[in-house]
Amino acid sequence: MRQPRLWIVIPCYNERDVLPITAPLFLKELKKLISAGKVSEDSRILFVNDGSGDDTWDIIMGLSKSDDHFIGISQSRNRGHQNAVLAGLMEAKDKCDITISIDCDGQDDISAMDKMVDEYHNGSEIVYGVRSSRKTDTWFKRTTAQGFYRFLNHMGAEVVYNHADYRLVSARVLAHFADFKEVNIFLRGMFPLVGFKSTSVYYERHERMAGRSHYPLRKMLALAFDGITSLSIKPISIICGIGVGVSLIGFIGVIWAIVMAVIGNTVAGWASIFCIICFLGGIQLLSMGIIGEYVGKTYLESKHRPRYIISEKTWDPLPDNREETDREG
Ligand code: UDP
Ligand code: MG
Repeated sequence: MRQPRLWIVIPCYNERDVLPITAPLFLKELKKLISAGKVSEDSRILFVNDGSGDDTWDIIMGLSKSDDHFIGISQSRNRGHQNAVLAGLMEAKDKCDITISIDCDGQDDISAMDKMVDEYHNGSEIVYGVRSSRKTDTWFKRTTAQGFYRFLNHMGAEVVYNHADYRLVSARVLAHFADFKEVNIFLRGMFPLVGFKSTSVYYERHERMAGRSHYPLRKMLALAFDGITSLSIKPISIICGIGVGVSLIGFIGVIWAIVMAVIGNTVAGWASIFCIICFLGGIQLLSMGIIGEYVGKTYLESKHRPRYIISEKTWDPLPDNREETDREG
């Protein structure tokens, strides 16, 4: 049987501190897989430079000259982690049999790739890397991240618990995934929608080897919000529910007021009315904001803008001499 050609897709944004440390580790793992006969010799490690402001791209170009297994593409500007991974996967999908996406900071256990490839050989087309423990994360990061997964699932965006973007995906799945044309992407919630046989492998999450996280609480909240509003319309149902509840209370209040007026029991309390108006005003604004978010997303989707633009590649001509467009809609 022909060994599958593996492309490891690694997004990098301002990673000059950590890339020189982790790149040799990725290469070591790939060579191990090659010599074990699990993947083919022409497998590659694809770095996606996400419009870094430092010399990350120069480091990637240096790496590509040092070893044929290293290659890289560069986005024309910073578009965020999800778009960087997407750009890499779309670049890879016609040139390999399997892809593994992983962050470049060494937090995800690189050796878990072994188990992932084994699961592929056992027939799985998607293998989710799942963190078995978060001992090395701070209490705050651990709690907020776990709350994040619970909240997402409650809100109807189904994601694999404790799975980030470390996963093996076959080219067959990617070919179908390419038909998911949305601009608002949340990869970990989208791959389960493609279907096919999938499984999980578990690994220990380490600390970042160098550099610092680009995902502070603010960005994590934004990602959670994006994940929910891209994958589910449950918040709108919840708003409808709240609307019905509040209207019911209002209705009872009106009846109560009429009864009191008839009895002749006029209440001299403007404070209670003031509170109720403020409360209702708040709920209305919040509801409109959430619905507005969906309208905004629809607007962005309707533009059909490219999800990424690749400005440079480390190879020329392309490895398999195939012509292709750099823009993808
Ligand atoms: N990253 C990216 N574009 C961005 C931010 C991050 O490509 O705008 C990459 C980054 O280089 C890393 C991965 O996404 O490989 C995860 O980022 P990070 O380690 O900062 O997040 P954390 O692990 O702390 O959630
Ligand atoms: Mg990280």
